[in-house]
Amino acid sequence: MPVQIHNTLTRSLEEIFPRAGEGRSLSLYTCGPTVYAHAHIGNFRAYVFEDLLQRHLRERGFDVRRVMNLTDVDDKTIRGAVASGIPLSDYTRPFKDAFFEDAGTLRLLPAEAYPAATDPEQIARMIAMIGTLMERGHAYQAEDGSVYFRIASFPGYGKLARVDLEGQRPGQRVASDEYEKEAVADFALWKAWVPEDGSVGWESPWGKGRPGWHIECSAMATGLLGETIDIHCGGVDNIFPHHEAEIAQCECAGHGAGPFVRYWMHCAHLMVEGSKMAKSAGNFFTLRDLLEKGWTGREVRYALITTHYRGSLNFTFDGLAAARTALGRLDAWRERLIESAGSEPEPVAEAPDAATEGFFEALDDDLNISGALAVLFETLRESNRSLDEGVLTPAQAKGLLHWLSRVDGVLALEPDAASALPAEVEVLVASRVSARAAKEWKKSDELRDQIAALGWIVKDTKDGQKVSKS
Ligand code: AMP
Ligand code: ZN
Repeated sequence: MPVQIHNTLTRSLEEIFPRAGEGRSLSLYTCGPTVYAHAHIGNFRAYVFEDLLQRHLRERGFDVRRVMNLTDVDDKTIRGAVASGIPLSDYTRPFKDAFFEDAGTLRLLPAEAYPAATDPEQIARMIAMIGTLMERGHAYQAEDGSVYFRIASFPGYGKLARVDLEGQRPGQRVASDEYEKEAVADFALWKAWVPEDGSVGWESPWGKGRPGWHIECSAMATGLLGETIDIHCGGVDNIFPHHEAEIAQCECAGHGAGPFVRYWMHCAHLMVEGSKMAKSAGNFFTLRDLLEKGWTGREVRYALITTHYRGSLNFTFDGLAAARTALGRLDAWRERLIESAGSEPEPVAEAPDAATEGFFEALDDDLNISGALAVLFETLRESNRSLDEGVLTPAQAKGLLHWLSRVDGVLALEPDAASALPAEVEVLVASRVSARAAKEWKKSDELRDQIAALGWIVKDTKDGQKVSKS
């Protein structure tokens, strides 16, 4: 069965196939974080969805080349650096580091490259691209010194977001990177330096300034992946104006050999009580906030991944608790299968089982995660029943474990070996449970200290003891 995805450009399901002559190779560009603060878990919903896509394509034999950019110069990063009185790179560095750490905690596969907008070679590429747009009459320098893209020069403008330019007044300009469809206007490619920019600025043929956010992604995407990219992803808020602008810039500066992007994919927002989780709204949680409350990266990943990427997902602690329960069931099942498989030798390669193959077939259908999880949990239920009845053979258990490892390759929800408690800690934790049950508080405190000495922290919560690495 071919892999089908919903292409935002055509608003329809399309089969994904590589370009002629590209073998099984697919290029994937994903808009990365703006590093002016810690990414929140709404941002990570987008990255987790992209990770699921990448992993499923890999399972289906595609060779995915992924690039994710880091937006380390824009209005927000400059504002932060100037307010803190430190150079821009010093300001963004800890947020870049934190992003990579969080991405690891959420088990995101690494991209092939993470270009940063301020890399000198990327700035040079942005300037070259703007130069081409100027030469071809798609851009102009305005009285404020900034260079703008002339949207009236590109008939395809509006095709992604379906903005109708009819009746819009041409020639209006917008300096800010983010604006609504109703305010459609020529957007900034190069922003002339202003005193509020402090020490941030690069020389260019149009004077000192800095790139607009949209040209950053256009230059980095085509610079690293070529003029036509197979799949480009982001959250729905990126459709307009960011991705619309990327199309305009790339298709006007390129050689016209093909579209900038073949498949556009966008995930719906992570919501909090009816509103988009956003830094500006102040209604956000970072991954760190959740880890601090005792949740694990695996639980957060589960909670983010298990709703279809185009469906709205409401963030709740009940959702995280449900993730914990589901993972507990999966872990218990896995343990039973391991025990039952015993020393059974590897099963000979079997033809795929029609029922379990349904897991991957569901994902072929625009990443239908609910369908895939239904297969996973139905398989779990059935084999648990067979285990209860003592009729599951070691070879069958081994076969299921083999299948589970393929499932893990896509979902990445296997237990974290690093977070598994060492046996000596487990013994101390168990003794502490009995000490507390017997109200032996002094003993309980001593045990806590012994656990801490081994590098683990134990917290008492209403659900019992929670142990994590210190
Ligand atoms: P930003 O750092 O704001 O540029 O966002 C980085 C990525 O996160 C983009 O792809 C956004 O579309 C995505 N994003 C931002 N907020 C949310 C949200 N609440 N839910 C899902 N994705 C989001
Ligand atoms: Zn982007």
